[in-house]
Amino acid sequence: MAKKISVVIPAYNEEKNIPLVSQAIVDVFSSLPYAYEIIFVNDGSSDNSLLELLRLGQSDHRIKCLDFSRNFGKESATSAGCHVAQGDAIITMDADLQHPPALILKFLQLWEQGAEVVYTVRKENKGSSWIKKIFSKLFYFIFNRVSGMRTESGSTDFRLMDKKVIEVFRKFPERERMFRGMIDWMGYKREKVEFVAPERIHGNANYSYNKLFQLALNSFTSFSLLPLRLAGYFGIFITFVSGLLLAIMLITDWFFNPTTFTPIAILGVSNMFLIGIVLISLGFIALYIARIHNEVINRPLYIVREKVNFDGEEKVDQLM
Ligand code: UDP
Ligand code: MG
Repeated sequence: MAKKISVVIPAYNEEKNIPLVSQAIVDVFSSLPYAYEIIFVNDGSSDNSLLELLRLGQSDHRIKCLDFSRNFGKESATSAGCHVAQGDAIITMDADLQHPPALILKFLQLWEQGAEVVYTVRKENKGSSWIKKIFSKLFYFIFNRVSGMRTESGSTDFRLMDKKVIEVFRKFPERERMFRGMIDWMGYKREKVEFVAPERIHGNANYSYNKLFQLALNSFTSFSLLPLRLAGYFGIFITFVSGLLLAIMLITDWFFNPTTFTPIAILGVSNMFLIGIVLISLGFIALYIARIHNEVINRPLYIVREKVNFDGEEKVDQLM
């Protein structure tokens, strides 16, 4: 029996891109000896994305759709697709054709040669603003130093994962997630493919700066305890320095020149420092407590309103 490949595509307001990307994928597979399914996850789109998907799904049962009850974000949408995917390998990609479907060929070659994870690195992102580029560079620079694992700058969600990788992934229960970070964290035999991302054809990039910032923050708190420790280090450092300063102030004042610093000035300085430390520590602790809170309430990661073209054989979703 032919091996089966699942293509997972999160889609949020992509009505114009959906027919193009699915046609491009069908074309790629038409010359390949694989069975395949294309799983679109409609992440609460407010345009006609769902209608497009239903239309496509009617003429081709390999085009499947999970319809979310609202927008849960790309990370949840990608996860949902992976939770129901049946393939021997799973490919994740964006709906906006910024991830060239032609590369799937290369992915499958590497997979057949034994790669368990094929990841891509974007050489040049046309249409991406310089602010985004700088923040992305900065993010990877800090993240790699802080997290104890390696994620390459410019690496994307356009990937292939072997079934066994996804089977392990399905067991991950965390709610605050960054899909590619979790896959990178898992290790396995990895191969890299580089590509140049073309511009988006239709619509606008849906990732606002706010969402990107949230994602970056999530990655730090998911994979590193440094922010929590940082407050501690900072506290020790400032306590030490201000303690020294205070000692100098007091000695100068009492023994040599009593008018140099007034007691109130001394008190003021030390108070300012201490308040700063306390506030910073509180800020970081709040971040972690928010995470614990999210994990503890144990709400599902997403809600599927409807499944289209699934035959009911797919594994029961771990998180639902
Ligand atoms: N996306 C999603 N939910 C969201 C935002 C985006 O499923 O809340 C999808 C979107 O439809 C696209 C992919 O995630 O398929 C990447 O989004 P976008 O092109 O906006 O991001 P960028 O290219 O800047 O990474
Ligand atoms: Mg895009």
